[in-house]
Amino acid sequence: MGVRYTGRFAPSPTGLLHSGSLVAALASWLDARAHAGRWLVRIEDVDTPRCVPGADHRILAQLAQCGLQPDEAPLWQSQRGDTYQAALDTLIAKGWAYPCGCSRKEIEAAQSQAVARHHAAVYPGTCRQGLQGKTARAWRLHVQAVQQALELPALTHWQDRRLGAQNQNVSEAVGDFVLRRADGLWAYQLAVVVDDAAQGITHVVRGEDLADNTARQIVLQHALGLPTPQYLHTPLVLGANGEKLSKQNGAQALDLNAPLTALNQAAQALGLAAVPAETRIPQALSQWCQDWATRN
Ligand code: GLU
Repeated sequence: MGVRYTGRFAPSPTGLLHSGSLVAALASWLDARAHAGRWLVRIEDVDTPRCVPGADHRILAQLAQCGLQPDEAPLWQSQRGDTYQAALDTLIAKGWAYPCGCSRKEIEAAQSQAVARHHAAVYPGTCRQGLQGKTARAWRLHVQAVQQALELPALTHWQDRRLGAQNQNVSEAVGDFVLRRADGLWAYQLAVVVDDAAQGITHVVRGEDLADNTARQIVLQHALGLPTPQYLHTPLVLGANGEKLSKQNGAQALDLNAPLTALNQAAQALGLAAVPAETRIPQALSQWCQDWATRN
């Protein structure tokens, strides 16, 4: 028997859900239901200074209002520091993670030289050979060491279910990326990879703005001996100014009094037909689920 489809929605509680984030929530829910799978929620609250107190529970309430109920109790990343530390320790023991003592200024200075030489702006690997008297700040993944040891190609490939064949040379595009930040907080890349595996996620459905992280996550999955899920990146909802809707550019939180209106907008962003205003939410969801199943 194959592994059961398990999907997830992983909001960062830096604000409430808005019409852009609801698209990712709805798409991940529909995809899980259309595959007769499980759908889980994970609160990505590792970047504590950016989290808004109470936003986590209000997001869960917004999802419930939209009829999107997780099949298990949600996971809070802020409670998983020991697990992330264990993953980092594994990488350190293999020689695949190293401490970095560079300040932001030093990295920027090295980057602008690299840019001037027509190279991509990536972490230049300054601390790969040792700290040279600097104090350890962040921890980074030695991308090439992982790729060489595991005989992985320098170009990481994946097949995105919507975007098609994708690839990225992580070393050239981003360099040795951060696993634990200089301020001691866990980096998104490490937390997301550890938790997708811990929750048994087989299918990641999320906004296209995150597509660029996928290659890094795949390298990290290999480094930690974890499976790689299937990926589907959903279209972004653009605001009136043509920019991606986000909490940072002031997207309005969803109106809890009009969940069907919000769901209809999200469904349309996914290419599904809006349902009449008098439709009950469970009915709307089951109709979209059928449409989704025939398309995906
Ligand atoms: N927490 C991320 C966000 O809200 C999503 C991470 C993911 O889906 O991989 O943007």
